[in-house]
Amino acid sequence: MQLIYQCPKCDAPNIEVVSSETRQLACSSQDWTREITSADIEDDRPKRCLCCGNEDLWRQKDFPQGLGLLMVVTGGTLSTIAWAYVEPIWALGILLVFAAIDMILYAVMNDVLVCYRCRARHRKANIHDDHPRFNLELNERYRQEEIRLADHQKSS
Ligand SMILES: [Zn+2]
Ligand SMILES: [Zn+2]
Repeated sequence: MQLIYQCPKCDAPNIEVVSSETRQLACSSQDWTREITSADIEDDRPKRCLCCGNEDLWRQKDFPQGLGLLMVVTGGTLSTIAWAYVEPIWALGILLVFAAIDMILYAVMNDVLVCYRCRARHRKANIHDDHPRFNLELNERYRQEEIRLADHQKSS
């Protein structure tokens, strides 16, 4: 599988190919490493976050960040332009085409597991279809934890 994560130390973005033979993750700036054991990976699937060891991961479509938004904005803009030039059929058609592309992309995209705590993305893994999807409540708990941690660091 492929792991995309932000180094906990220097925040550098890293992409690493990880298999069950991988024993260590290392930041490209060489300021951080983490051991990988059989407790982390099973059958090409992460049992917990490979970057921070957190056990809560959510499953979502591996839609490149920004592309979805770009599509919506582009479709909307083109449609508005067509509308302004009094071509309602075109305006509607453009929206439908973009909606269709969006749906096709969504159908062919693979799933990715994202860590609630550090947002590491585990791609191309052998993900079970019944792995839980994003949970707002759980996410809120992690957000609060992060705020508490930041406050704690500030006051100490
Ligand atoms: Zn680093
Ligand atoms: Zn994590």
